[in-house]
Amino acid sequence: MALRMSTLFLRTLREDPSDAEVPSHRLLVRGGYVRRAAPGIFSWLPLGWLVYRNVERIVREEMDRAGFQEVHFPALLPREPYEATSRWTEYGDTLFRLRDRRNADYLLGPTHEELFTLLVKDLYSSYRDLPLSLYQIQTKYRDEARPRAGVLRGREFVMKDSYSFDIDDAGLDRSYEAHRAAYLRTFDRLGLSYEIVDAMSGAMGGSASEEFLAPTPVGEDSFVRCTTCGYAANAEAVQIAPAKPVDATAVPAAHVEDTPDTPTIATLVDLLNSREDLARDDRPWAAADTLKNVVVTLRHPDGTTESLAVGVPGDRDVDLKRLEAAVTPAEVEPFTDDDFAARPQLAKGYIGPGALGAEHGIRFLLDPRISDGTRWVTGADVHGRHVVDLVVGRDFTADGTIDVADIRDGDPCPSCDGTLTLARGIEIGHIFKLGRRYAEALDLTVQDEAGGQITVTMGSYGIGVTRAVAAIAEQTHDDAGLCWPRSVTPVDIHVVATGKDDTPFDAAEAVIGELEDAGLSVLYDDRRVSAGVKFNDADLLGAPTIVVLGRGLQRGVAEIKDRATGDRTDIDLAEVATYLTDLVRAG
Ligand code: ATP
Ligand code: MG
Repeated sequence: MALRMSTLFLRTLREDPSDAEVPSHRLLVRGGYVRRAAPGIFSWLPLGWLVYRNVERIVREEMDRAGFQEVHFPALLPREPYEATSRWTEYGDTLFRLRDRRNADYLLGPTHEELFTLLVKDLYSSYRDLPLSLYQIQTKYRDEARPRAGVLRGREFVMKDSYSFDIDDAGLDRSYEAHRAAYLRTFDRLGLSYEIVDAMSGAMGGSASEEFLAPTPVGEDSFVRCTTCGYAANAEAVQIAPAKPVDATAVPAAHVEDTPDTPTIATLVDLLNSREDLARDDRPWAAADTLKNVVVTLRHPDGTTESLAVGVPGDRDVDLKRLEAAVTPAEVEPFTDDDFAARPQLAKGYIGPGALGAEHGIRFLLDPRISDGTRWVTGADVHGRHVVDLVVGRDFTADGTIDVADIRDGDPCPSCDGTLTLARGIEIGHIFKLGRRYAEALDLTVQDEAGGQITVTMGSYGIGVTRAVAAIAEQTHDDAGLCWPRSVTPVDIHVVATGKDDTPFDAAEAVIGELEDAGLSVLYDDRRVSAGVKFNDADLLGAPTIVVLGRGLQRGVAEIKDRATGDRTDIDLAEVATYLTDLVRAG
């Protein structure tokens, strides 16, 4: 195949699109790979679609190799199965809902656990039919709150989703491992670097779950890795070791102090350290001695709301993503001025345990570091006043604990005495031991050996196919443009002919003919524009090998440039096709 730039449906852009926040989005739009059709909704142009199809092909080949069978479900789905699993409600605003002409409710599938479960229930009835793994590669719809970064987070996107069906947990373990192994092969072939991290499994009601994250600074997920042991987890899933209770018999009684103009932790700590009567004998006061209470509103899927206060040591913040993950499917909303007005016992900036807790209609949960017997400086529920030496368990109790404070580089590892490093990544895949939640909700049982009925045990496994295209771009691009790995590049070779007369163009045609005969795909810049424009476009478009037919022709050579390394080699014109064919076949 040879695509000619003079006729190719492509316009590269010199300027960055104004709404592009991350390099992959910028470059995929500038390179004419995708175009925005609506917020979070994209059209794929010829070069983009070639890359997309390569990614899709690799994903499919690895699923097939693992013995999973491909099916294809509709994207337009009836409400009832999602009602049965509560997800019609739990998905909240993320679900695209619609009505047909008879006023029946439908949705555009955000993921398909329900439909797969029902199909297997429809056709299978015996333990002898299992294990089974089915998959599809299909367009999904989610009305994301923050569609962002181009195809990285779309409202319409393609996912490969698989589902496994087993008679027991041991079977699920095997199916899960088979998917994990297939994912390793898939992401390796896609040229992605990735980390496998523990993920939250609470929301879907399953037991174990891991995410594949492609590390990049623009990733939306934060994850940690231990410097000593093998621990790695999405920051959402990190559970710190709860602090042990301490003895508080020597702590003086709590006392309220005037602390004017101390709305922030820093101003409070400065004031404490400037007051001789409050001096500690062991060390100066620190932010970690203060208890900060953050109040938010939780909106539950059924529309009801609830106030929640989270107490964290003052040197930490509540991490919104960790909080959202901990309370899902409820959504977190900031406490507004109206909310404060409705709860006059809360003195903004000086909120203490005295105004919190079930008796005040505000559920109060503490960070696990705040154990019984620990002493704190915290708000006295009056503007300009704080309470000192307030002891947990002695002076107040909370309604429970919640582990949602931010995780920091250098924090202790929860599973050994090492420390954690923090980085960011893009979630490219997610594997999940679902257990029996969906099978129970939709009554998927099979007959067991003894003739009884057993509920089927399921797993679900996703890969973001369109997201993977952008993740690859994100990890491989450089300042000049895209830089595709051979496995997914839209074309094997980008041929550039430069010069005013026909010689380089004739030479290019000859080389391209040979490359096509050898089965290589070629993008040929046959435009009569300046060499500079062509070189810039070749760098922007990112084919792994660029062949220049220009000045070198006088010496009988073509110049071969490796897009990724920038290395250049002159090759005799007669050898070019063989040389390039070997290069491409070597992978
Ligand atoms: P995220 O946390 O990024 O919203 P998720 O955990 O909701 O993703 P899953 O339900 O696990 O996503 O979906 C499986 C895979 O589908 C994800 O690992 C990701 O690669 C991809 N994916 C999910 N949402 C989107 C989206 N809005 N746009 C593109 N790809 C997506
Ligand atoms: Mg996920």
